[in-house]
Amino acid sequence: MATQRRREKTAETETAVELIGAEKSEAHGYEFGGPIGTFILTFGLPFVCYAFVFLCNDVSGCPAPSLLTPSKLFAPPALSTRSPRQHALDTLKRETGWPGLGRLINAEAVLGTLAWYGWSLLLHVLLPAQEVEGTELATGGRLKYRFNGTSRVSFQRLSAILTYSKAFSSALVTLGLCAAGTWVLGPNFQLWTFINTHMVQLLTTNILFAYLLATYFYLRSFSVKRGNATHRELAAGGHTGNIMYDFFIGRELNPRVIIPYVGEIDVKSFMELRPGMLGWIVLNLAYMAKQYKSYGYITDSMLIVNFTQALYVLDALYMESAILTTLDLTRDGFGFMLAFGDIPWLPFTYSLQARYLAVHPVILGPWYTLAIMAVGIAGYIIFRGSNNEKNVFRTNPDDPSVAHLEYIQTASGSKLLTSGWWGRARHINYLGDWLLSWSYSLPTLLSGYRLTNSILTPGSRLVTTDGMKGWAIPVTYFYLLYFAILLVHRERRDEEKCRRKYGRDWEKYVAKVPYRIIPGVY
Ligand code: NDP
Repeated sequence: MATQRRREKTAETETAVELIGAEKSEAHGYEFGGPIGTFILTFGLPFVCYAFVFLCNDVSGCPAPSLLTPSKLFAPPALSTRSPRQHALDTLKRETGWPGLGRLINAEAVLGTLAWYGWSLLLHVLLPAQEVEGTELATGGRLKYRFNGTSRVSFQRLSAILTYSKAFSSALVTLGLCAAGTWVLGPNFQLWTFINTHMVQLLTTNILFAYLLATYFYLRSFSVKRGNATHRELAAGGHTGNIMYDFFIGRELNPRVIIPYVGEIDVKSFMELRPGMLGWIVLNLAYMAKQYKSYGYITDSMLIVNFTQALYVLDALYMESAILTTLDLTRDGFGFMLAFGDIPWLPFTYSLQARYLAVHPVILGPWYTLAIMAVGIAGYIIFRGSNNEKNVFRTNPDDPSVAHLEYIQTASGSKLLTSGWWGRARHINYLGDWLLSWSYSLPTLLSGYRLTNSILTPGSRLVTTDGMKGWAIPVTYFYLLYFAILLVHRERRDEEKCRRKYGRDWEKYVAKVPYRIIPGVY
């Protein structure tokens, strides 16, 4: 009897421990300002995208010149019957090329976007694939991902397939076709003309698509049941019960869909790497074609922006499998944050500099070019060196390139590097990423331009920087600032995750490596 009672008590205790464990794993505080912050982001971000497009344009200037003289903007001419507000609105509509609400979207842009997604899916199906296992899920088991290769590999052998990836081969096919089209038709290649003619409408289509996708996967996440055989699970911090917050942060961790003739698609990894990332490069190329069409040459500044951003994107696609260990894959659900970030935000706002240079062709000269390239390459070396070091160490600690590095053996089983790149700062990879981003913005120099009608050649327009220098900095240097905020915020989130996971071992690491991102500074 006593034994029976003891057994029951033990079982009760075990159940209690299990429940507490489950609660603990779900005990995440609000991020991004909670429900209010996520409400502002969810409904405010599209306006930021539109503000960039309209306030920095190829109709009147970057920024629209009237913005620099607000007193005049609200002062209608003497005999005008319009109110100051009406006058300001009319002026801004004229200077921004505002097409009217009804023309923010059109059938061509919707079809073009569908074709782009269809093309990405087609390549996903047609190109040779390899099955790779993801990291271990909280509920046990691992999901499988279709990447490139010839033989089956496990997560532990990821380094072996980091040599080649399917997303990368998709990019090569797509960029190869773009090159062929440009070779034959030059800047009049229909893809470039289409993008430059329908850019605003493409942006709107992609914004709506992000809302649609986020809503669909939010609703579908309620069908996730505990212990299901397909390893569907909710993101640890994504099911607080607050609709606004959960919609933004993402409820389901790894939503997957089965598309007829395509098969199963892992939505998060697909969206993260394929249409948006590659879309960024394709938009950049379209802007380069626009510059060539308008001026008959391509500037060194445009080449730097295209080269450094393509390097960053192709690197990410080449290292496709490395995405499996990122925060986005392991921790965040697929909600509005990732849908909006991947679909409209990344391609349309990260390509701001190329769009700016398409209209205002900045010529840097060899010294500026060398200096900017040096910053970019230094950033890339830190970014790639540190990420590789961690990947190799985590997949094969005996590899000669990392075998000499010092580390802390944590109680959880993982090892934390304390020398090499990861001994300099706890997120030294973010420093490299950020430095690289300087080479995106610096080519625009002290940006700002105005378009005026040419007196000598009626019908054509001249680009001048008179009175505009420096005023477009909030646009062309936006990425630098935004990315710094994103990385600092991301570092805090990761730090919190590691503190929770490693406890005292993390404290030891922090004591040994006190800097977060910039050695000796932060
Ligand atoms: P990281 O690659 O920085 O990995 C962080 C994880 O690495 C930690 O959670 C921990 O995971 C492990 N780790 C931490 N310290 C150590 C150590 N000393 N030794 C070994 N392992 C350690 O994660 P991210 O997903 O944030 O970044 C991946 C890359 O993507 C970065 O280079 C980043 O700059 C880039 N990025 C780019 C963005 C863009 O918009 N361009 C957006 C976001 C990221 P574990 O639990 O396994 O120990």
